[in-house]
Amino acid sequence: MSKLCNIEELKSDAIENFINSVEVILFDIDGVLILHKIPIPGAIEFLEKVKKLQKKVFFVTNNTIYPKHLIVENLKPFKATEEEILTPNDVLIDYLDIIGFKNDKDIFAITTSLPKKLLRKAGYNVITYEQIQQTPLEQSISGVKNLILKGFEACKNVGLIYLDADLNVAAGNVQLAKALLNHSTQKEDILCLSGMSDELFPIGDEFKGIGAGYYINALEKWTKRTVEPMAKPGKAMADFVKMKHNIKENKKVLMIGDNVSTDITFGVDAGFQTLLVLSGCTAEDEVMPRWSYPERVKPDYVATSLAEVYEKMKNM
Ligand SMILES: [Mg+2]
Repeated sequence: MSKLCNIEELKSDAIENFINSVEVILFDIDGVLILHKIPIPGAIEFLEKVKKLQKKVFFVTNNTIYPKHLIVENLKPFKATEEEILTPNDVLIDYLDIIGFKNDKDIFAITTSLPKKLLRKAGYNVITYEQIQQTPLEQSISGVKNLILKGFEACKNVGLIYLDADLNVAAGNVQLAKALLNHSTQKEDILCLSGMSDELFPIGDEFKGIGAGYYINALEKWTKRTVEPMAKPGKAMADFVKMKHNIKENKKVLMIGDNVSTDITFGVDAGFQTLLVLSGCTAEDEVMPRWSYPERVKPDYVATSLAEVYEKMKNM
């Protein structure tokens, strides 16, 4: 069983060696740098310090809804630039290019407006449910059948189904995606990729909203298809980071995140060093004294927040 190094128990020289061992630092945003748009104490100082130490920094978020200028706005105290921000939307466009997905094939997209806009900008023809079904679906089995037949006609050239967060998702959307993957004539040739796929997402401190996970997981189950994720913890995002930033040694990259299932799993699978901070969605009792997640995704380091790390390396 590997040991989880608690930053609290390490001396400054050990922290300095750890920071010296990395050249690139990937930050998750919410729960690491900001919480409800307010900077988390110590995060600005940590970021400024590592930049001074000539580390390359990137902000790696699973958010596919906000355009980069809004993410930059949210990260204003951190002086982030659009070039430093990486989202599943970037990974998707790059991935399609790498696998040679031809723009003579259409894309059926269940997403918010931004991914559709970016796909169209990249030259792809995007088909949406709203184009196929302009009125509420008739509340009968024949209503569903008619939708599927209409959908098959409209989507006969579809080569990719892209599943992402769609806050207005209608059941007919998912019915059609399932039918295309199970029954259409081109079903074997349809790729299926996903963006933001969280089961739940926080709405302030009080509520949790239902994320896209509920229909993405269901589609995987019903169609027995594996949906390739463009978001953390997927491999495509790690490959994108490594290629774009010419990373030769994975251990010279540090992933800092507050979510074990996305950020830390992403970092571990990519071969990066990992630091879990407890300033976001993971509670201390999930981690210490007993690690309650799979042993495989145990990070290298844990800290209450970036302030704790900064305190021990501020004299570097
Ligand atoms: Mg987070």
